[in-house]
Amino acid sequence: MAKIKEEIKEAAKQVVEAVAEKVVKKAAEVVKEATTPIITPEMAKIPAGPLELKWTNYKNHQKLVNPANKRRLDVIVVGTGLAGASAAASLAEMGFNVLNFCIQDSPRRAHSIAAQGGINAAKNYQNDGDSVYRLYYDTIKGGDYRAREANVYRLAEVSNSIIDQCVAQGVPFAREYGGLLDNRSFGGAQVSRTFYAKGQTGQQLLLGAYSALSRQIGKGKVKMYTRYEMLDIVMIADENGEKRARGIIARNLVTGRIERFFAHAVVVGSGGYGNTFFLSTNAMASNGSAAMQMYRHGALFANPCYAQIHPTCIPKHGDFQSKLTLMSESLRNDGRIWVPKKLEDAKRLQAGEIKGRDIPEEDRDYYLERRYPAFGNLVPRDVASRAAKERCDKGYGVNNTGLAVFLDFSDAIQRLGKDVVAQKYGNLFQMYEKIVDENPYENPMMIFPAIHYTMGGIWVDYELQTTVKGLFCIGEANFSDHGANRLGASALMQGLADGYFVLPYTIQNYLSDQIGVPRMSTDLPEFAEAEKAVQDKIDRLMAIKGNRSVDSIHKELGLIMWDFVGMGRTAEGLKEGIKKIDAIKKEFWTNVYIPGEANSLNNELEKALRLADFIEIGRLMAVDALHREESCGGHFREEYQTPEGEALRQDDKFAYVGCWKYMGDDKEPQLIKEPLDYEFTERKTRNYKN
Ligand SMILES: Cc1cc2nc3c(=O)[nH]c(=O)nc-3n(C[C@H](O)[C@H](O)[C@H](O)COP(=O)(O)OP(=O)(O)OC[C@H]3O[C@@H](n4cnc5c(N)ncnc54)[C@H](O)[C@@H]3O)c2cc1C
Repeated sequence: MAKIKEEIKEAAKQVVEAVAEKVVKKAAEVVKEATTPIITPEMAKIPAGPLELKWTNYKNHQKLVNPANKRRLDVIVVGTGLAGASAAASLAEMGFNVLNFCIQDSPRRAHSIAAQGGINAAKNYQNDGDSVYRLYYDTIKGGDYRAREANVYRLAEVSNSIIDQCVAQGVPFAREYGGLLDNRSFGGAQVSRTFYAKGQTGQQLLLGAYSALSRQIGKGKVKMYTRYEMLDIVMIADENGEKRARGIIARNLVTGRIERFFAHAVVVGSGGYGNTFFLSTNAMASNGSAAMQMYRHGALFANPCYAQIHPTCIPKHGDFQSKLTLMSESLRNDGRIWVPKKLEDAKRLQAGEIKGRDIPEEDRDYYLERRYPAFGNLVPRDVASRAAKERCDKGYGVNNTGLAVFLDFSDAIQRLGKDVVAQKYGNLFQMYEKIVDENPYENPMMIFPAIHYTMGGIWVDYELQTTVKGLFCIGEANFSDHGANRLGASALMQGLADGYFVLPYTIQNYLSDQIGVPRMSTDLPEFAEAEKAVQDKIDRLMAIKGNRSVDSIHKELGLIMWDFVGMGRTAEGLKEGIKKIDAIKKEFWTNVYIPGEANSLNNELEKALRLADFIEIGRLMAVDALHREESCGGHFREEYQTPEGEALRQDDKFAYVGCWKYMGDDKEPQLIKEPLDYEFTERKTRNYKN
C-alpha cells in the first residue's frame, strides 16, 4: 500500500512539473511576444485613406524642395542597376547634385542587364481583364499575403507610367504586327501584362536608364564613379544628437585607395544577396555588403529568409562551376514541363540510354498541368520549383544527376512553327545550346530550380527611407513589395518604380528639412574614424595568410545554405545550419588566404570582403527561417504543409514583416515586427488549381 501511495505521489509530482514547465514556457512566449517591439503604420509612414488614394494624397501633401535649394543639396546613389540608374538620372534631372557609384567599369554592366523575360504593367492592352487592382491583387496573393498593401497598390499604380517613360526613352519593346506593344504571360497571373524586348528586357531597359544618366553626366549634374565599392556609410549626429547618413567610404577598385565622400542623403540600390548561396543566377559581383553596412548602422534587415528559387535554370553540371544560368520564365508561356511517368524511363534517361524525345506522349507526366489545371505551367515560381523538387526527390529526374525536369517546345513548334518560336525566344535557345551542347528545338531543354532573387532586404518605410535618417534603400536591396515570393517580371517594375516614380517624390520630404545644412568637410573626425575602421578590416583580412581560397570557403557556405536553408527547411536542419555557418565564419577569419596587395587592384580582396558579409547574411537568413514557423511563398518549412504538400501559412501568428536589428558582432539580433493588418484584402489560401 505504501509503495502504491509513493508511486501515485511520484506520478502526481511529474504531472505538476510537466504542467509547470508548459506554463513557464507559455509565459515566456507571452512575455517575449508582449515585449517584441512593433512598427506601427504611422512609423512606417503609411498614408491614411482609401487604398487607391493613398499615393495621390501623399504626393499632394508632401514637402517639396524649391529649384534654387535643390542645387545646394548633394545625394549619393550607390548602384547603377535599374533602381540606382533611374534614381540617379531622375534626381539629377530634378536639380540635385548626384554622386553615383558602381563596382563595374560601366553603369551598363550592373546585374540588371541580365534580366531576360520582361516587365509587368497593368496597361490592359490585350483587353483580357487586367487592371491596376488586378495587378495589385496578383502581387499580394503571389507574395502569399506577406507584403504591405499600400506599397503594392502604389507599385501597380505607377507601373503604367514606367512603360510610357521607357517607350519615350526609345526602349525597343516587342510590338505586334499592327505596331502596338506586345505582351506575354508570366507566372501567377491569368492575364498577359508582361512587356518585353525578346529575351533581353533588362538590357534594353538599362540602356534606357543609362542614356538618361549619361545626359546628366554630360550636364555635370551626376558625377560618376565606376570601379568604386562602398565599404561603409558615414554617420554624423545632428544638433539633436540624432545620427544621420552623411556620406560614404569607398575603395577605388583599380588603385586600392580608400576615399571619403559627403552628401546630404545616401540612397542605396545595391541589388540582392542571392550569391550567399555561391551558385545562383545573379551576376558574379552581386553582393549583400552594402545591405550589411546599413544593417550595422541600425537599419533593420527585413524578412532575410525570403529567397526565391527559380524553377527554370540550366542544371548544375559539375563541381567547378561558379555560376548558374537562367532560362527565362517567359519560356513557360509556350514550353510544357514534364518528367516521365515511368521510373524505368527516368532511369534510362539518367543513364543516357534514351533522350526526352524518345518517350511517347502517353508516358509523359505534365505534372504542373496535372496538379494545377487553372494555371498549369504558369504557376508562380515557388510552386513550380517545389513541384520539380518533389518529382526529382521521387526519382523521376531526367539528367545524369537525376536533378532536372524537361521544358519542352515540341507542341509550340508544331502549333506556331519553328520561326515564330525562334523570334520569341531565339537568344535563349542559343544560350542553352552553347552551355548544354544540345539543340533545344530538337530535344526538350532540361531545367532545375536555382537561387535567383531575394525578397528580403533592408526595411524601408513608405518613403523608402530606412530606420536610419537620411539613408534610403531602393530596388532589390530593400525588402520590397513582393512579400514572401516575387512574381516574374515584377522586379524590374519595382526597381524602376522606386527610381523613376517613388524616390524622386519621397526623398524631398526628407531633403526639404536639410536645406540649411551646409556641405560638410570629409576631414571631420566621423569620416576619419569610418575610414580607419575600413582600413583596419582590410589589414586584418590581408594578415590572415591562411590556406583556403576565398572561393573554396564561399562554395562550402553555399552548400550549407542549399542543404539547410534552401528549398525545404526544418527546425532541426536550420539549427544544424547555424552551427555550420558559425564554424565557417571561424574558418574564414583564421584561414583565408588573400594574395596580392591591398593598395592595388585585388579581386580576391574584393571577394573576401563580400564573403565576410555573405556569412553574416547566411546566418541571419537561417535565424529568420527558424523563427518563422510557417510556410509562405519561397519560405517552405517542411513541418508546415498541407497533406497535398502545399505551403501552410499561420496567419494568426506570422502575418508580419520580421525585421532584425543588429545588436553587435557575435550577438543575436533582436526581432522587431511590422504587423500586416490587412484592411483591403481578404487573406486566402493560395489556389492555382481552379
Ligand atoms: C538572370 C536573371 C534574369 C532576370 N530577369 C528578370 C526579368 O525578366 N524581369 C524582372 O522583373 N526581373 C528579372 N530579374 C531580377 C532583376 O534583374 C533584378 O531584381 C534587378 O535587376 C535588380 O536591380 P537593382 O537595380 O536593384 O540591382 P542590380 O542591377 O543588381 O544593381 C546593383 C548595383 O549596385 C552596385 N553595387 C553593389 N554593391 C555596391 C557597393 N558596395 N558599392 C558600389 N556599388 C555597389 C553594382 O555595381 C550595381 O551597379 C532577373 C534576375 C536574374 C538573375
